[in-house]
Amino acid sequence: MIRDIQQEILRLKKENDICILAHSYQAHEILEVADHTGDSYALAVKARSVPNKTVLMCGVRFMAETVKILSPEKRVVLSHPEAGCAMADMMDKDIIEQVKPLYKDYTVVAYVNTTAALKTICDVCVTSSSAVQIVKNIENKNILFIPDCNLGAYVAAQVPEKNIKLLSGGCPIHAAVSREDVENAKALHPGVKILVHPECRPEIVELADFVGSTSEIMDFARSSEDTEFIIGTELSIAEHLQYEFPDKCFHPLSVGLVCKNMRLTTLVDVYNCVRGMGGEEIELDADTIRDAKHCIDEMIRLNHE
Ligand code: SF4
Repeated sequence: MIRDIQQEILRLKKENDICILAHSYQAHEILEVADHTGDSYALAVKARSVPNKTVLMCGVRFMAETVKILSPEKRVVLSHPEAGCAMADMMDKDIIEQVKPLYKDYTVVAYVNTTAALKTICDVCVTSSSAVQIVKNIENKNILFIPDCNLGAYVAAQVPEKNIKLLSGGCPIHAAVSREDVENAKALHPGVKILVHPECRPEIVELADFVGSTSEIMDFARSSEDTEFIIGTELSIAEHLQYEFPDKCFHPLSVGLVCKNMRLTTLVDVYNCVRGMGGEEIELDADTIRDAKHCIDEMIRLNHE
């Protein structure tokens, strides 16, 4: 049954000139029909170079918006209209417009997990893998880092020469990982390395053996000679790694690491989208695209050693 739907998706996407992008947190059967998989920023960059007129983003809303900002000439469809991001929805443009006058001499650094509207009033974007390097390269000493205070705290620890102010926000899924989860995982799997995402709280990051973005965690597990790992990011990553390396063993740090927004998209949604009957086309006005793109262009300019 799943194979039949997948075959239809592959046929229809070709017939309708659609490129399917799938974030790494999507289900395995969706990754199998995607043209490209990876993190949100890598997918948005990839979308610029694909020849297709339509891009279907299987993920959450800010990811589809980022694709639209970088490829405004393309028709961009979000796989499920209700797939938002709890972190991106936590901080809107109005809040930051009110806060900015209190931090006049600060460069506003926005995690890419923010709405397109919010990006229009920020100075530079970062991803979890580029945040440390970009903050190091910002000319200004004073940084206002939004919206993830856990990623911000991680960056502040790596770049002590900067004066970094944080606002209270973040990913509720990663922030829910507790010290008890770490203790339990260590007791169950003694000596096994713990790999965590910097969206986890600082006390969890301190207890980890490796801290990195989703892609960096996957690369670490791929290149390590260890055969067992504890994975401290969305549950799907432990599942994908287990599928890729059946001879190794990947334990989730917490079974609570489930993003319900990422789980909204099903294979049937993808099928409906490629036959033009599902999803939501992303519409952004020209001013939003121009101003939000400035923030992303700055990320590219500042992301160097
Ligand atoms: S895992 Fe967290 S940051 Fe990622 S989409 Fe879900 S709520 Fe947003």
